[in-house]
Amino acid sequence: MDHPLLAPGIDGHTHTSFCPHGDRQPTRRYLERAVECDLPRLAITEHLPLPDGFHDPMGPFQCAMPPADLLPYLDEAEQLRAEFADHLEVLVGAEVDWLGSAQGGWHEATLAQLDSIWDRLAPEATLLSVHFIGGTIVDGNPDLSLAYAPGEPPDAYHLAYYDALDAALRASWTVGRRDLRPRRIGHLTLPRKFIRALPLAEPERVEERVLRLLERIAAEGLQLDYNTAGLDKEQCGETYLPAPYLQHALDLGIELVHGSDAHAPERVGNHRDVVAQTLRDA
Ligand SMILES: [Zn+2]
Ligand SMILES: [Zn+2]
Repeated sequence: MDHPLLAPGIDGHTHTSFCPHGDRQPTRRYLERAVECDLPRLAITEHLPLPDGFHDPMGPFQCAMPPADLLPYLDEAEQLRAEFADHLEVLVGAEVDWLGSAQGGWHEATLAQLDSIWDRLAPEATLLSVHFIGGTIVDGNPDLSLAYAPGEPPDAYHLAYYDALDAALRASWTVGRRDLRPRRIGHLTLPRKFIRALPLAEPERVEERVLRLLERIAAEGLQLDYNTAGLDKEQCGETYLPAPYLQHALDLGIELVHGSDAHAPERVGNHRDVVAQTLRDA
């Protein structure tokens, strides 16, 4: 995998035993799997807790760990990083949700939480993801996606999702003198998780929106999570950067980092062969 725009030898997006919708195997198993795959580097990027009072559309503490687990998560990740240091470079990071598209001071709450732990995170292992739009979630199930705009074609929630991501990129992430904005965008085309079940009415309009976002991402020097989890989803069957977006991202010089988005140890490093082949073809 030595494409000039692909960060080499890393799975840059993985979860842990702290993920409520993961399979709850020990985090240690994720690291052991990375070693088995001969991966030199692994980024641990657990979902940060949602702020108190934020509505989790999947049920209480389903999308992310409870706030009380945050410090134990970091403690365990740091301990494992030290323990595996001879075999694997572990980057302790986080998947940060943009919550500013919902009403309430959620972005401020996110910043306060990030500020409190920033010194313990590897900035290059921080992901910015949008899962929540207007009180619902884009990737929970097709009904919840459509709940964003009942009766309208799926285009509505795709466009709302990209608007939310655009707002996240325009927002201030500065606290004091520190810029806490995550360095990488998680699964850019996540609304396509159910694309086979919920095809777009006007795909060109959504495509145009994504291309404009890619230009912003390039201009701001952010990386993209080349996320392969969608390949295993029945209603998706593609990476979360399908052609022609992949080619456009490469043409713009955006650096890609492979992310398996493993929620179970055996998924760590999954599809790195596909990533390598796709980039050779690109
Ligand atoms: Zn997850
Ligand atoms: Zn993830």
